[in-house]
Parts: sequence; structure tokens; C-alpha cells
Amino acid sequence: MTLLRTPVPCVPSEAGAAGEAAAVLPDLSGLADLSALAALIRGGGVAVLSGAGLSTESGIPDYRGPTGLARRAEPMTYQAFTGSDQARRRYWARSHLGWRHVARAQPNDGHRAVAALQDRGLLAGIITQNVDGLHQAGGARQVIELHGSLDRVVCLGCRRRTPRDELDQRLRAANPGWQARATAINPDGDAVLTDADTAGFAIVDCRACGGVLKPDVIFFGENVPRDRVGECYQLVSQARALLVLGSSLTVMSGYRFVRHAAGEGIPVAIINRGPTRGDGQASLRFDLPLGRTLTSLVARCPAPQEP
Ligand SMILES: [Zn+2]
Repeated sequence: MTLLRTPVPCVPSEAGAAGEAAAVLPDLSGLADLSALAALIRGGGVAVLSGAGLSTESGIPDYRGPTGLARRAEPMTYQAFTGSDQARRRYWARSHLGWRHVARAQPNDGHRAVAALQDRGLLAGIITQNVDGLHQAGGARQVIELHGSLDRVVCLGCRRRTPRDELDQRLRAANPGWQARATAINPDGDAVLTDADTAGFAIVDCRACGGVLKPDVIFFGENVPRDRVGECYQLVSQARALLVLGSSLTVMSGYRFVRHAAGEGIPVAIINRGPTRGDGQASLRFDLPLGRTLTSLVARCPAPQEP
């Protein structure tokens, strides 16, 4: 195991864009070096930490970091959201469109592969930075949603949590005709709206107490609840290895678990397109497409034999 703690050079990308576009049958020629990673996973007890890169193959854009919704503009902060009616109106207007996109997304081969590894008893647990629910849709269980989930809404007054679908119905009812107009302006579905579009959007409050409704996700400027962080640290401490999937580890919220694992001498393996902040702490590092690579790993990791 000592060997695995020694950083190894990053495995370069495969053929590149042309090779990927041409791939009808899976080209696994670039995956030969996965044997060390497969051996690590076959040992079991692997904690998975996943990020936006795992969901890009499902059509969810990677905007990096804690998120409230798909956005190209600057991210909404907790302070802005709670401090201004106008900011909340703008948020919910964009999110009302963006939610369509997230709700329609389907799990991809990467999500299914993680669920398969869990089914085979090889995982200690799954921590995700994603708020899209696609791990669970792909069959995974007991997923720790570090940054919450877009499919729930929380009241900042009474802390009651309600389904996003319920809010979606209420927002539709409160804004007849708005959806069609806004979608016509943004045919690509990316919810970038003008101030004029958002100014006419009606937001709704908590049915129980009249409080402010917020998506049950962690905004910039907001801390992940302490008990949730503690649960993640415990999971990583007890794991035999930490496998990072599709995260550049830009935000400390996820990166701290990589540092924690490395500090405890727990091997860290990373599969991500492009460099990550944790590369210096990784024993194994792969710049490869997630879906195809994880599917190949599953094939190399049969379920352990019953004693
Ligand atoms: Zn309430």
C-alpha cells in the first residue's frame, strides 16, 4: 500500500475530441493503466467523492462549486438571496426554467457504475457535491448529499422541507404564460434571463408560516451543516481509499476530505477531465471520461467471493 501513496504522473487523455466522436464501440485502449486502480477498488472499503464532472454526460453543465441553479453569471450568495426580494425573484425565475432541465436529466454510465460497485459491496459510502439526485436515480443508496439537493425546498422560517415538484406547481400557477415567454427567449434552455423577464416573475412563500423559501442546497457564503461534514469525515477516516470522480476540487467543501484522507495515509485516486486541486495528494490520477472509465472498472471488479 505504501507504493500507492507515491504520486504518479497524470495519465494523459486518450485520442482527444476526434477519437471520442468516432467511438461507436468503447475504445478501451487508453484504459490499460487502470489495473492499479482496479486493484485498489477490489480491496473494498472505498469512499467515493463525486462532483459535477460525473453528471456532465447527463447534460448537467459543470459550473463548478456549490450551486443554486444553472448559471453563467456570478453565483447567487446566501447573503444576497436572504437580503433582497429582487435577488430571490431573479433566482427563482431562472431556477424555474433550470429545474426543467435538471428534472429531465437521466443517470449516465458513470452513475450506474458507482451503484454497481456499491452493489458488489466494494464501497464504504458515497459523498456527492452534486445537487441533481442522479446517483440515486442510477441505483445508489445512502448517498450523502454534501451540498443538498435541488429536488427539495426548505423554509428559512420554520425549516420545513417540501418537494420541489410542489413548488414548481405553485410557481406555474402564480406565473401563467411566463414560462412560454421566457423559454422563447432562451431556446437553449440555459436560464439566462433579462431583468425585464425576472421583474415580472411572482415568487411564493411557505404555506405553513409565510417564510422565505430557499432550495435545499448550499449557496456560496453558506456553510455545510456541521453534522453532515462530520459524517463525511468519519466515512473518509474509516475508508481504505478515497476515489474522487469528476471534481476539480476547487472548493474547500470537497477538497478538505482529500486533504484529510492524505493526512491519514489513506490512498486517494482521482478520475477527472483536467487538473484538480488534489492532484498533489493523489496516488493515482486519471484524465479520462467518467462513464466509460467507470464501466471498465466495474468489469475489472467482480463481487468478492462469499466465504
Ligand atoms: Zn415555513
